[in-house]
Amino acid sequence: MSSVDRWYTPDKIYDAHCHYFGHSFFNRVAKQRGFESAEELLKNWQFRGGKIELPPKDSKQLAEMWAREAEKNNVDKIVLLPEFNDLTDLRVAVQEYPDLFVPFLSVDPTQPEAKSILEKGISEIGVKGIKLYPPLHYFHAYDDRVTPIYELAQEHNLLVTFHFGVSVGSTADMRFMNPTDLSPVALKFPKVKFALAHFGTGYFRELLFLMYHYKNIYAETSSSNVWMDYLPHKLTLQDVFRKVIDATGVDHIIFGTDSSFFPRGWRRAIFEWQLAVLNDLRLSQEEINAVFYKNLEKVLNL
Ligand SMILES: [Zn+2]
Repeated sequence: MSSVDRWYTPDKIYDAHCHYFGHSFFNRVAKQRGFESAEELLKNWQFRGGKIELPPKDSKQLAEMWAREAEKNNVDKIVLLPEFNDLTDLRVAVQEYPDLFVPFLSVDPTQPEAKSILEKGISEIGVKGIKLYPPLHYFHAYDDRVTPIYELAQEHNLLVTFHFGVSVGSTADMRFMNPTDLSPVALKFPKVKFALAHFGTGYFRELLFLMYHYKNIYAETSSSNVWMDYLPHKLTLQDVFRKVIDATGVDHIIFGTDSSFFPRGWRRAIFEWQLAVLNDLRLSQEEINAVFYKNLEKVLNL
């Protein structure tokens, strides 16, 4: 158990996983699910994280809400994962708070416009990474349609964060969930860094195997990691961190929260839980810094 005499907190906090959902996200989902309005959708939305507040229509106000959360929690940088293909809110956020927000884009590589949107995001906003969802958009990570995205990632040093595994919603197709799909890609693009959100979201063994073979694979820690409850054997967050650290050290672990909506805001509980686990594992100050900000700083040249 942890000792109060030896409790480290990171010198900085960089959050590699924060969804940036503006008004347009809720309008799209409302339409998709057959609701008349975003307000109607929210009345019917069962969300594990509690009540969801409709974000302001004004992009500046949205940016300000997250900036206030960051300040309140001493968060130094936040990776923003916006609504698919959406540059509007992202552009304003980065203009208003260039030191705080790190812009990523979420694209669907099966759509032909994905490449041009990404190019635009890189040249106009300075996008630093991409979020991809194979189980939601029905593609394998090795699909030829994704190659132009990987080429851009290589050219512009973008981090490619994947959501493999479970928990992306009721339309997810399990055929595209397995992170080992990434194996030929990691081989072909050794300079591109790939992060697996939520430790592979159930495919933890596959994450460890990938990390064994390729140096460009990162374990991203965000969310409550509920997938642990769906394994046929007992596994705690402490076991998960210990396994990754024993196998590969701390240099390939990137902290994230998976914050998304208000009023919940920035998920401090996730940060505190992971910090407690890492102190229990008796990490040094330097190792704690690596997980909570230095690794991401290095990967993205921040
Ligand atoms: Zn997420």
